[in-house]
Order: sequence, then structure tokens, then C-alpha cells
Amino acid sequence: MPNGWFRPGDRVPVTGIYTANHDQHRKTHEVFAAEGDKFPNCRMCGERVNFALAQAASRIDEDTGFGKATKIKPAKKRKKKSAGDG
Ligand SMILES: [Zn+2]
Repeated sequence: MPNGWFRPGDRVPVTGIYTANHDQHRKTHEVFAAEGDKFPNCRMCGERVNFALAQAASRIDEDTGFGKATKIKPAKKRKKKSAGDG
């Protein structure tokens, strides 16, 4: 395995999108993993799956650049008045 590939059981080093590369049964695809998690086994190919960081991304709730969201009030339901019919 070239550097930069992770195996099931390895610790996720950086939160972000990873490319999962399986043993033939499935095409490569992207998965999200958070730092400190462990890369999982694949149900189909077991440990013959590898992961590579595709795009580092911080969790939005852990990014100190953002504050708390202001609650948006639900729109009031307006009853339509029937215009004279009935
Ligand atoms: Zn697999």
C-alpha cells in the first residue's frame, strides 16, 4: 500500500471525506470519517478495503468560526378565506 492509505482498524487522523477502495466487489466511493474514529471493516471484503483522504473537512459544529444558529420561527399557517363561494 502506498503512503496515505489506511486500513480497517487504523485511527482516522483527520476529519474529512475519504475514498474507500474495495476488493473488486464495489467501485471506489467517498465516505465521511471523523478524527479519532477507527476505519471499519467492510461487510463484503473484510479487511481488504483501504481508505485515503480525499478532502479534509472540519465538522461544522467544531469549527470555531461559526456561532450558534439563530432559530428560525416556523411560518404561520394562513387559512385562506373562501371568497364568497358556499
Ligand atoms: Zn468491500
